[in-house]
Parts: sequence; structure tokens; C-alpha cells
Amino acid sequence: MKCKKNNIIKKLSAVLTASALLLTGCSGAKSSTQTDQDLTYTDMLFDTVIKIQILDPADESILDGLKKLCEKYDTMFSTTNTDSELYKLNHANGQSFTVSSETANLIQEGIHYSELSGGAFDLTIEPVSALWDFKADKPTVPSSDAIAQAVSHVDYTKVDIQDNTVTLEDPEAGIDLGAIAKGYIADQVKTYLKKQGIKHAIINLGGNVDVIGTKPDGSKYNIGIQKPFDESGEAITSVQLKDQTVVTSGIYERYFKKNGKLYHHILDPRTGYPCENNLYSVSIITDSSTKADALSTTCFLLGYEKGMELIQSMDGVEAIFITDDEKVHKIGI
Ligand code: ADP
Ligand code: MG
Repeated sequence: MKCKKNNIIKKLSAVLTASALLLTGCSGAKSSTQTDQDLTYTDMLFDTVIKIQILDPADESILDGLKKLCEKYDTMFSTTNTDSELYKLNHANGQSFTVSSETANLIQEGIHYSELSGGAFDLTIEPVSALWDFKADKPTVPSSDAIAQAVSHVDYTKVDIQDNTVTLEDPEAGIDLGAIAKGYIADQVKTYLKKQGIKHAIINLGGNVDVIGTKPDGSKYNIGIQKPFDESGEAITSVQLKDQTVVTSGIYERYFKKNGKLYHHILDPRTGYPCENNLYSVSIITDSSTKADALSTTCFLLGYEKGMELIQSMDGVEAIFITDDEKVHKIGI
């Protein structure tokens, strides 16, 4: 079983470069950030490949701590694992359900970005997102009837939250934290590693990158933003990070093509179909990965003009928008 998992990890590790990659500037086997003391935790969680590289000398037991932490969150925010709080909340038939303070706080964050975007981002997208399977061997487009039915249950204003007790006023509604959970988990991993005394590390959750400090030599990490649809993982541009995060939402990360049309996983809550605009991707650079994850999806859904305006109105947030003519538009960098 373990062996099979390792093989999958090997095959999928290319996916890690799907939206961000560490640029080293050398072609040797060992990257410029690696030392003999490096500890790396690789796994397949949160529906993606994760890789956490500790660049300080540290005790191996730290890897067990990482594994426990990541596995906890893998269950906590899953919409399909019947043991998860989110699954239980989504299947409470409109009854109030008490969740952990972590889940409650993340739901509050989701409501915040739903309000901020006027519903372009909507954390109650679950009835719609559950209809789409972008990773299936033979993916299909759901029927228009099923989509219309699901869309009628998407409405973030019908989520009532009092402390840790959540009520979905529409019994058919469901919460999907997929657009912000990986950012939140990256922040928690960062906090954990810092508490263990780690001063240099790279946390990569499926292209959602969060770094601790600088590289051991004091220079900033150079993180590449992938050229959209380029399978070799070539970078179109890069960002320099020190104790920051870069998170990308794009149409080339999870998609399938049917009859020449591309269907991707960022869904328009008004139509139930993939959001259509002239963007390939949005990357957000800031100090909180939760914020970066939420904003990258939100800006993608708002589109180029409104997304740009939103970023310009914020302090401490930089962004890179890539439009479908492959132009790179940088804000604040
Ligand atoms: P990734 O999961 O590749 O990191 P994103 O952070 O952009 O990409 O999140 C995409 C996920 O967000 C989808 O898989 C789905 O779970 C959720 N989602 C899709 N559309 C919306 C939407 N309009 N509002 C909120 N969440 C969404
Ligand atoms: Mg996101």
C-alpha cells in the first residue's frame, strides 16, 4: 500500500510545479537551497501533492508532527469524507450543527470573501461543485437541469453562524471551503514549524507556496509562476519571497476538454458553469496564505478589471494577473 502511494507521489510530484516552482538557477540534482540536513515531508493530501522542506537541522520527529497536523486538516475540511465536520454540517438537513472553532473561523472567512465579491465568490458553491469531477478518467459535463437545480441552492446569505454553531437555512445547501482551506492549512503548518524553532522552510501544498524566513544563505526564495498550459513546468515570471506566500488560481490547474471546450474548476455561482473571462490565472503575494488563497480565487471570479481594483484598494497585497494573450500584469511588485 505504502509502495503504491509512493509511486503515485512520484508520478504526481510534477503537479507540484503546476502553479509555482522553486527556481534554483542550476541544473544539478541538488537545488541551491538544499543541504545534507534537509528534512522533507511529501504526501498526497487535500486532493493534491504536498511537499514541506525544512532547510534547518532538525529532529526527524518533526516530520511525524507535520504528518499528524496535515492528516487532521485533510479530514476536517473534506466535503466527501463522512467523518468530517463539514460533511456532517452539509448533511444536517437544515438543523444547527456545532463545529470546531477552526472550521467556524474559516467559514467566517468564506462569508467575508463572499460579501466582498458580491457573491462572485460563494462558499455555498458545494451543490454545484459536487456535480463536477475534473479528475475523472472520462469527465463529463453535468446536465443543465442538474446544474440549474444545484445553482438554486447556492446563497451565502443563508448561512447563519453564531459562535461555533452553523445553520444552513436551506437544507439542500452545502459549504465548500476548497478555495481557502489549503491557504489556511499552509498558515497552520508555518505556525507549527516556527514553534519548533524552524527558521528556513518551504511549504508547498499543490502549488500553494508559503515560506519561512529566507534561504539559509540569507537570500530570498525565488518562486516561479508557471506558464499557463505549459506541461514542462516552465516559468512565465517569478516572485521573490521572504516569510511570505504566493498562491495561484488558474484555469490550467484542474480542467478537462469536451468538444473543444475547456471546463475548469473555478465555478460561476450564477450559472453553475466554469467562470468565463479573459484570465488564465491570478497569483497573490502577501503574508497570510489564507488571505492569498481566498483572494486569488476571488480575483479570478471578479475578472481582470474588478480584481485589479480590489488589490489596489488593499495594503500589503501584490498580484500577478495573466491574461489569455499570455501577458503578465503585475500590481504592487
Ligand atoms: P485550487 O484548489 O487549485 O488551489 P482555488 O483556490 O482557486 O484552486 O479553489 C478552487 C476550488 O474552490 C474549487 O475546487 C471549489 O472547491 C471551490 N470553488 C469553485 N468555485 C467557487 C466559487 N465561485 N466560490 C467559492 N469557492 C469556489
Ligand atoms: Mg483559492
